[in-house]
Amino acid sequence: MGKFSKFFLFSVIVGAGTFFGKPFWNFVTNAQSPKVSCLRLSKNPNFKNVAEFDVAVESVCKLKDLKVFLNDKPLDIDVSKVVEKTFAKCEVVLDSSTLKDGNHEFKVVAVDGGYKAAISVEKWNICVDNLPLRAELEKSDFKVMQGRTIHATIQTNKKISEGFITFKGEKHKCVKVSEQANIYECFIPVECDVRAGSTSLEVSLSDSVGNAVNATGSVKILPADFSRYANLSISSEKLQDERENSVSNSILESALEKWTQSSPDKKLWNGCFDLPTIVQRYSTPFGEIRTTAEKGRYIHKAVDIVNSPRKVVWASQAGKIIIKERFMMTGNTVAVDHGMGVVTLYCHLDDYADIEIGDMVKKGNPVGTIGRTGYATGYHLHWELRVNNVAVDPLQWTQRTF
Ligand SMILES: [Zn+2]
Repeated sequence: MGKFSKFFLFSVIVGAGTFFGKPFWNFVTNAQSPKVSCLRLSKNPNFKNVAEFDVAVESVCKLKDLKVFLNDKPLDIDVSKVVEKTFAKCEVVLDSSTLKDGNHEFKVVAVDGGYKAAISVEKWNICVDNLPLRAELEKSDFKVMQGRTIHATIQTNKKISEGFITFKGEKHKCVKVSEQANIYECFIPVECDVRAGSTSLEVSLSDSVGNAVNATGSVKILPADFSRYANLSISSEKLQDERENSVSNSILESALEKWTQSSPDKKLWNGCFDLPTIVQRYSTPFGEIRTTAEKGRYIHKAVDIVNSPRKVVWASQAGKIIIKERFMMTGNTVAVDHGMGVVTLYCHLDDYADIEIGDMVKKGNPVGTIGRTGYATGYHLHWELRVNNVAVDPLQWTQRTF
């Protein structure tokens, strides 16, 4: 083609484009395939009953054709609202009760109305789950003493996506016991100052398609013998010394709050918890009512174990070191996260063992030595166990397997 004829053809196309407008120009030149999106269809959608969603199409030229497939079989849908439009959406309704449980492939093929008929093929995975969720508490009547822990287990007929037990207005997470079985468990701390008597707990579970199921258990809270009283004071010199060498216990409390939120959803422990040092005697039981000039009246929510100065203190179970710090009241303190919101605390330590925050320890690994740092009148270990940041009687955890 000569220079002149090339120029002539160019002039004709440009002239025609100018004359007929942008749509014509697009019709001739567009190679861009239509943009297809599925509204209300997220990355891994799960459905029960009827699945409804919109297929939205945006094409440069008026859309020529739209086809929808499920597992490569064409679906009969009304495409009249989409065809001959540059932007439109049409509704797709699937009756998932007619489909087998499991994964299905949803495919959309859209063809641009331009001369080049640019085509786009988009696929989504749909998971159908028609099985209704059923759940049952393995044991539904609990008897528990104030300051102790309830261990609830729930059997379900399928995997759940979320589950918790509400007790006294607090939610406690249900966690799968093993990959193989549909059994979930939950640890519920009973505050030592909760009123004795009958109450209930509510189980709420839901599966991936939003089926929800509830169950109720009855709880009888028995009164514990918290009748020991004590007045405690330490010298002003020691208090001053502690103040200069430590940080406030409010920092410990906020750290424990934070760590409880991020505690792993699995047990890092196995079997009973060990007493964390050799017990010469218990100097303070769990639940003693104390009065000090600094804190006023409060419940001692831990056990105090007397052993000789600087004797070894070990982790009562496997877990992760989350706190190693000197606090005003609890002195040199180590906290171990055992997973599922269960944390043990070792306080008033003389010194630490060779451990750092983040270290994984096994049951029996040293964490420090018996001391009297912090608010302590003599050498002893203040051993505390918290479930979802509520201090409960740790001795219960040494007597039975949770
Ligand atoms: Zn104590």
